[in-house]
Amino acid sequence: MSARVLVVDDVPVNRRLLEAKLAAEFYEVAMAASGAEALAMASKWSPDVILLDVMMPEMDGFDTCRALKDQPVTAHIPVVMVTALIDRSERVRGLEAGADDFLSKPVDDATLFARLRSLLRTKQVQDAWRLRAETARQLGVEPLPGPQAVVAGSTVLVLADAAEAAEIGACLRADGAVPTLLSTVEEATAALAVPSARFDLAILALPAVGTEHLRLASRLKAQQATRDLPVLLVADPAQRELVLRGFEIGASDYVLRPTDGNELRARARNQIRRRRYEERLRTDLDRSLELAVSDPLTGLRNRRFVQHHLEAALRAGDVSVMMIDVDRFKAINDGHGHAGGDIVLREVAERLRSQLRAADVVARYGGEEFLVVLADAPPEEAVAIAERLRVALEKTPIPTGQSEASVTVSIGLAITPVGVSASEAVAAADTALYRAKALGRNRVEVAQSPQHPPQRLG
Ligand SMILES: [Mg+2]
Repeated sequence: MSARVLVVDDVPVNRRLLEAKLAAEFYEVAMAASGAEALAMASKWSPDVILLDVMMPEMDGFDTCRALKDQPVTAHIPVVMVTALIDRSERVRGLEAGADDFLSKPVDDATLFARLRSLLRTKQVQDAWRLRAETARQLGVEPLPGPQAVVAGSTVLVLADAAEAAEIGACLRADGAVPTLLSTVEEATAALAVPSARFDLAILALPAVGTEHLRLASRLKAQQATRDLPVLLVADPAQRELVLRGFEIGASDYVLRPTDGNELRARARNQIRRRRYEERLRTDLDRSLELAVSDPLTGLRNRRFVQHHLEAALRAGDVSVMMIDVDRFKAINDGHGHAGGDIVLREVAERLRSQLRAADVVARYGGEEFLVVLADAPPEEAVAIAERLRVALEKTPIPTGQSEASVTVSIGLAITPVGVSASEAVAAADTALYRAKALGRNRVEVAQSPQHPPQRLG
């Protein structure tokens, strides 16, 4: 996996050392000699990861990290602090400044590359979602807020022996997270298999012997439902090899025993925030896609969606297209007011929808015009469905508040062979609709020759 790494260190020899290691693994490297330079480079060059020295004159690593996490253009870039300090309170300070991890000097190659791969994997996923959210934004959806700081209410699966689980559980509760404490891999597997189960984080405390915890991590990463669940490992210093394998599998972070409560909390919080950020990107995307393809008044699909859908359907096979128009809608609007008119449109939409199958698409095509695309319906059936829709409207008047409106529709049906263009199909249905209007309304007319639509009768 190649990626851009920004190395920040005030000592030239340190920069060159890291540059050489990274370049040997085919990373693209840029360097900055101070916090201020790092901020400028990060905005300009968009690195995938920043390796940040802690001890620097003027702006130190903590301040630089905080500043990076505060600017929207660099907030999402993972930061690894490189430090000679081993003091735990300093680590927590760094995590609280938003750092994603620490490497101690001199930097150990295996750890460096395992951490880089893991952080880059996470970033790739987020970048993909951010790109899609950006597209959604261009479709007119409001911008996203930055990563949320709230961890309260998040759910965490903890797999550890009883004593350690209790300790970890207490740490998590201190931040308002809700832990589920389990002591065997079987219990954890069962808890994760519950269809309604939803966890923000899994903490796996590796036992002194055995690798079944890592096998569970591997299964989590292989399964669709749990692929994006961050995994935080707790391990003994002697289990370094297992931790590195954990990163290969897809673990996101780790804490070494004896576990420092503040460090565990800070790392858990970072993972939960990241997870929630990803989920928000996803929800936002779903919502914006929904908005982009829906008609706000009726909740039906909109014209843009149905046009694309019809084109795709006609490439695949024969399609029946119905153009449906509410008869004398202007009179309904005049008699019941615009609010009454809206009620009528919503109810027409609801009745059409209730008469169709899930695979059929009904869209609001224009003011009081609806377009239906029937999936795979033989001609007789399409005619019967059109008739059923007409009757569903005629049968019962629509209450509009004070009074009720007698509503009928005219329907033009085009049974269209594969390969005909969407615009030809729509034109044929439209022509049949006008014929239905001309012949007295409240009726279904079938287009004669959808391949060569006749001229509109007006
Ligand atoms: Mg330094």
